[in-house]
Amino acid sequence: MKGKIAEVFDSVQGEGLYLGEKQIFVRFFGCNLSCRFCDTKLYSFSEYGPQELYERLKMYRKNYHSVCFTGGEPLVQKDFLKEISKLTHKDNLKNYLETNGTLPDALKDVIDYIDIVAMDFKFPSSTDLNSFWDAHRLFLEVASAKEVFIKAVICESTEEGDLIDALRLIREVAKNTILILQPDSGASSESLINKLDGFKDICRREKITTCVIPQVHKIMGLK
Ligand code: SF4
Repeated sequence: MKGKIAEVFDSVQGEGLYLGEKQIFVRFFGCNLSCRFCDTKLYSFSEYGPQELYERLKMYRKNYHSVCFTGGEPLVQKDFLKEISKLTHKDNLKNYLETNGTLPDALKDVIDYIDIVAMDFKFPSSTDLNSFWDAHRLFLEVASAKEVFIKAVICESTEEGDLIDALRLIREVAKNTILILQPDSGASSESLINKLDGFKDICRREKITTCVIPQVHKIMGLK
């Protein structure tokens, strides 16, 4: 079995609740979506067997918080993800999965080996795609067996109705899950800041814990 891997590197986490943690990043090639704001266009990959990739990861060992499986969408290659995460899990490395949250059946296959799930909610008014609420619901149900938080990119185009749908879903499935509102890194207008402010008020009213966290690695010029 071979996995298609776009890159392997070490850096610090630039998004979400684990912002600033040192991680080894494994960027999987390929994605099942095409979000309007996507900033990870991948054009090439190297092929690795699970053991081969594990040996490469071992070369980095220096007080890392975790191995971050990212993409693209890692769950598109769930069989390979399962094998590599089994190996790192067995070696007591923490496995951190960054995922678009749309492939619940694939998550079921790997969840035993994952420690932290950083899942997206894809708001249709942000992505310009159809909605994924049913998939997100099933995904969050599976992810809730482990530590999980949710990120949603907020753009100029994001509509309040999508936020309301997201908060309802969180309340019904796992009400203590933290929602990160992530401003679109390609936009920084006053109207977006006002929108985030208004969204934060709605989250407070609905009693869902929310943080506004931008993509800090971009601000700092890190990978
Ligand atoms: S899910 Fe992530 S990698 Fe895939 S298209 Fe959307 S932003 Fe890009």
